[in-house]
Amino acid sequence: MSRPVRVRFAPSPTGPLHIGGVRTALYNYLFAKKNGGKFLLRIEDTDQKRYVDKAEEYILESLEWLGLTPDESVVNPGDFGPYRQSDRKSIYQEYVQKLIDSGNAYYAFDTPDELEEMRHQAMEQGIHSQKYDASVRHKMRNSLTLTAQEVNELIQKGENVTVRMKVPTDELVSFKDIVRGQVKFDTSELDDKVILKADGLPTYHLANVVDDRLMQISHVIRGEEWLSSTAHHVLLYRFFGWEDEIAQFAHLPLIMKPSGKGKLSKRDGAKFGFPVFPLEWEDTKEKETYIGFRESGFLPAGLINFLSLLGWNPGEDQEIFSLEQLSEIFSLEKINKSGAQFNYDKAKWFNQQYIIAANPQDIYDIIGPDLARVSNNKTEAYIIEVIRMLQPRVHTLTEFKEQSTFFWSAPSEFDEKAIKKKFRIDNKEDFSNIISLVDSLVSFDTESLSSAIKGHINDNQLKFGHILPALRIWMTGSMAGPDLFEMMALLGQQETVQRLTSGLNYAVKFTNNE
Ligand code: GLU
Repeated sequence: MSRPVRVRFAPSPTGPLHIGGVRTALYNYLFAKKNGGKFLLRIEDTDQKRYVDKAEEYILESLEWLGLTPDESVVNPGDFGPYRQSDRKSIYQEYVQKLIDSGNAYYAFDTPDELEEMRHQAMEQGIHSQKYDASVRHKMRNSLTLTAQEVNELIQKGENVTVRMKVPTDELVSFKDIVRGQVKFDTSELDDKVILKADGLPTYHLANVVDDRLMQISHVIRGEEWLSSTAHHVLLYRFFGWEDEIAQFAHLPLIMKPSGKGKLSKRDGAKFGFPVFPLEWEDTKEKETYIGFRESGFLPAGLINFLSLLGWNPGEDQEIFSLEQLSEIFSLEKINKSGAQFNYDKAKWFNQQYIIAANPQDIYDIIGPDLARVSNNKTEAYIIEVIRMLQPRVHTLTEFKEQSTFFWSAPSEFDEKAIKKKFRIDNKEDFSNIISLVDSLVSFDTESLSSAIKGHINDNQLKFGHILPALRIWMTGSMAGPDLFEMMALLGQQETVQRLTSGLNYAVKFTNNE
């Protein structure tokens, strides 16, 4: 009974892709790869009012950056196109007609005012938010209440011509969801949804079901917010007589705010200072720029690993998984039912693991040009060496720049608190001796520096804690930075001697003035 696995990610280009959407795309991708199937991208742009320019490009670029390249899409069409719903208008009209002919849908001509009046009347009878359903459809202006001639005239006139699905009364719509088990809806809870709008374009429900069928989608994997719509979708499948090949549904848990209370929103990102979009997005209407994970210094692999576990549990302790590994072990059965709490520190932890494991050259390929610009003409080899030293110390790519300033030029100031704590004027002579020693070294590499300086400390019965921290402050300006001897070796003899000398002078003056 198994049919080829074909899944789709079906975003609407109404703005940037939210991180929840990225996770939906990822789970679809993984499920397709795991089962040797196909991963499609379908652009659901039938709501012209909510259409946002550049959103489609943004979606494509985001998937490309993450390496979740669709097997079929608008830029890489397969045999089931077009892959943009606005290019499929005529297809939907044909299917809407089928539903009208079979009596499962009807024309409705009600104006916005008439709809408002219907709700108002219901309100007076104590019914809040009255739906357009079996209880009112016989009172409205539609092809169920008007004569054939009136209907034809109104269609000819072309004003407010919509088509609604005719939801049967008192029935149970039931379907199996892979994540939530059996889900049931009473049709009395469902309205007669508009399936074709006055602008001639279908609504999400109709287009989504027709396309899933025509594109031979085997599994519908999407966010939990669509669970309640599924009842209408199942009815549409039934109306079309497609029940035998209905897609299997899997609704993914919501991504919750860091507090665990409520759905994660784009406002939360701005509020708490973390990205909720994969790439930067400039909102021209709101005149606001939202930073993305990419600009925040994330590697795609780090973000993917983080998202993979935000709602899915591999059932083992291992946490680090590459996209390839995930593609081998992913299963819909292991998706959690409850909401997944977003934790930015955890996201950065995953990113850090991938930065540590990366080849410095690969990191250079991403941030090299940016570092080169501030590097005071350092060579590529030098910059790669800086990257290598900082790799274990950063969580994001942006921190390389923040933490590397002393590799490009001598520190412009010293952390005075640190000098106060770590510099002992009693050791002044010892520091001078160490500087002379460093100056006289013939081979200036990490090993020689380490054994010369440590040897001097030991031979003179000094304490490491009295000497090394001060040297570090003079090299970097503060107590921060990677291995002292590696840093010195990279900066070179002349620069090291210069920094130590001016650092010692500064510390002596500073201490005498205290
Ligand atoms: N266009 C819907 C969205 O924007 C797709 C929902 C679905 O996958 O069916 O999320």
